[in-house]
Amino acid sequence: MRFDILTIFPGALDGLFSVGVIGQARAAGAIEIECHDLRDYTDDPHRVVDDRPYGGGAGMVMKVEPFVRAIEAIRGRVGGHVRTVLLSPQGRLFRQADAARWAALDGLILLCGRYEGVDERVLAFVDEEVSIGDYVLTGGEVAAAAIVEATARMTPGVVGRFDSVESDSFYDAPRLGAPQYTRPPEFRGLTVPEVLLSGDHAKIEGWREREAWKKTAKNRPDLLGMRPEAGERDDG
Ligand code: SAH
Repeated sequence: MRFDILTIFPGALDGLFSVGVIGQARAAGAIEIECHDLRDYTDDPHRVVDDRPYGGGAGMVMKVEPFVRAIEAIRGRVGGHVRTVLLSPQGRLFRQADAARWAALDGLILLCGRYEGVDERVLAFVDEEVSIGDYVLTGGEVAAAAIVEATARMTPGVVGRFDSVESDSFYDAPRLGAPQYTRPPEFRGLTVPEVLLSGDHAKIEGWREREAWKKTAKNRPDLLGMRPEAGERDDG
């Protein structure tokens, strides 16, 4: 599985992609990540990637040509099943199921916008337009990093013990993970649930299952098709 990221700040994610699970997976060759400088796909001496918006208005819009040239160059080099994704707050919300679906691909090309966003015609050259949440970032790089992490950890050979992935939030149901504890058994009067110290695995599994659903109902009733309780709604 490889990730090709198109950005005007190709070094921005270097630190993040060289540590932890992702850094190890790259070193082991389980995944490849390449950040491409969008300016390498311009054809003018000033390597311009943005221009003023048609119709007027504040800020700059990213031009269509560099993105399309870059997509075509990468698609020409990377064989197999590749999908092209534009990061945008106007996209459909990215979910765990997308990460699982994309992890089966040979490659994912991620387009990062900046400024006021990208020329709408870029959409004619991408497979999906995806948002990581209902808020606006200054650029697509952080969103691309979130998608790389979520997708890479669903890729076989990336996370050592896949059963740890299977017990995570969202894995096989719209449900959050169970609460976790580690030593010490007591901290400032806060104790660890007795059942976790019991050594009774069946009982522990039952407790985790119940707690996971309880936490989901409390924090994310929307996942269960329930209405948030009064006072817990966004609108107060
Ligand atoms: N004017 C746009 C926002 C542009 S933000 C609008 O009103 O919708 C600049 C860039 O940041 C976008 O092109 C996109 O690539 C990235 N970005 C911002 N918020 C994002 C989000 N929630 N999810 C994914 N990408 C986002």
